[in-house]
Amino acid sequence: MFNKYSFQYRFKENFNTTQIKAFLTLFAFSICSNEVFGQPILLQHVNVITMSDSLIRYNQDVFIQDGKITKIAGKIKPKRKQKVKILSLKGKYIIPGLVDMHVHLKTENELEDQLLYYLAAGVTGIRVMDSKSAQNELTKKVTDNHITAAPKLYLSYIIRRENSYSQESADSLMSALKTSNYKFVKLFSLSNDSTFQHLMNSSKKYGVIVCGHYPIYRQFSKAIPIDFDKVLNSNFKSIEHLGGYTQLPDDKIALAAQQTKANNIFNCPTIDWDIMAYDLMYPNEYKQRFTYSMIPKNTLDQYEQDYLTNINKAGGNDAIIDQKNKYLPTYQKKINILKNLYQYKCPLLIGGDAGNLFQMDGFNLYEEMTLWSQAGIDNFTILQSASINPSLFFEELNKNGTIEEGKSANLIVLEKNPLDNILNIKTIQYTFKDGMMFENAILRSKLGIH
Ligand SMILES: [Zn+2]
Repeated sequence: MFNKYSFQYRFKENFNTTQIKAFLTLFAFSICSNEVFGQPILLQHVNVITMSDSLIRYNQDVFIQDGKITKIAGKIKPKRKQKVKILSLKGKYIIPGLVDMHVHLKTENELEDQLLYYLAAGVTGIRVMDSKSAQNELTKKVTDNHITAAPKLYLSYIIRRENSYSQESADSLMSALKTSNYKFVKLFSLSNDSTFQHLMNSSKKYGVIVCGHYPIYRQFSKAIPIDFDKVLNSNFKSIEHLGGYTQLPDDKIALAAQQTKANNIFNCPTIDWDIMAYDLMYPNEYKQRFTYSMIPKNTLDQYEQDYLTNINKAGGNDAIIDQKNKYLPTYQKKINILKNLYQYKCPLLIGGDAGNLFQMDGFNLYEEMTLWSQAGIDNFTILQSASINPSLFFEELNKNGTIEEGKSANLIVLEKNPLDNILNIKTIQYTFKDGMMFENAILRSKLGIH
C-alpha cells in the first residue's frame, strides 16, 4: 500500500550483508526516540494507571532501563554519572501498552508499515490469528531485517477443516508446538468431532493454548456445532466473534455466560468486524467513524472506490439496505451476549480484526472500544481486556500486562485519562515497546495518518 521504505531495497545491492544490517538497524532506531538505545529513561510527574486496580497513582516518577520498569516512586533521583533521558509528563497518564488480540498480518511487502500502524496506535503486542503469508516467514523477515519498530508478535499454528487428528497425531503436534515459536493453536475450522476431542486432550497434556472460532464441523454439507457444554469444559481458551453463543436461544444466554465464567473462558467479540462486514453503517454513518478521518488520503480514495464497486456488485442501494436489515437482529443479539458476559464478569479480550474497508490496523481497537462503551461496559474493564487479560491468556502476567516494577516497559503516554472517557485513548503521545520510545506524531507523519 505505502512503500516509503522501498529505498531500503533499492540500495541493497551496494551493501554487503553486515552493512545492510547496520543500516537497517540505524533506520529503525531513527524513528525510535531514545537517542542511544539502552539509554535509561525517567518519566517524571506522571499519573500512573497500573491496571492491577482502578486507582490512579498521581504524580509518580517511573524509571525505565534495559527494557524494564525498574522503579516507580514519588521522586526518583538518577545516579550522578548516569546519562538518563528525562521526560516531564506533568498532568499526563500512563497505562500498559495495548494488546490487540485479533490481528491478521498482511503480505511481506506491507508488513513493515502494518506493524508501525500498531505502534502508532499504542499497540505493543498482537495476537496473530492468521496472515497472508506463512507466519514464520513473516517473522523471519522481522528478525532478519532487524525490524525493531514492531509490537510483540504472538504467532498461531492454524488448524483447518482439511486436518484430521488421531490421538497420536494430536499428541505429536502438541508436543512439537510446545517447543516452537508458536504461542497457541488457532482453530479456524474443524474436520470432525473426534479431531476436536483429540486436540483438546493433547492440549491439556502438553499445556498448549487452543482457541479460535467456535468449533463446528460439516457432515453431508450440514454445519454441526460441537455441544456447547463440551466446548466450555474442554480447555478451549478463547472463543472468537461470540460464536456458539449466537446459536443459543435468548433465554439460555445468561446461563451460558455463567458457565463461561465458571470455566474461565475468554471471549474476543470483534463486533466492529460485524459492523463493517455487514455494512451496518451504510449509507453515510461510516464517515463519522473516528478512524475515518485518520486514513491516509490515497487509501481512503481507494476504499471509497472499492466500496462503490462492492455495493453495485451486491445489487445496489436496496440490496445493501436489505442485507443490513437482515443482519441487524444478529448484531443486536451479539450486543446482548456481550452485555451478559460483562454482567457475569467473564474475561474479555479486545481485538480490532481490521481487514474490511475503512478499518485501520491498530487504531481499529479504538472503534471496538467505542462499541463496547456504547454497550455499557465500563472503561476499566475495556482497558483490562487490552492489558492484564491478554497477559493472563498467555500466562505471562509476571512479565507484562500491568505497570509495576520488574515488568517489561510496554506502556503508552496519554494526555488525558482514559478511565474518564475511553476515547481519551486517542490522546496518545508516546508508545514504549520494551523500553524503546516512539513518538506517535512522528510515526503518524511517516505513515501519512492524519
Ligand atoms: Zn479474524
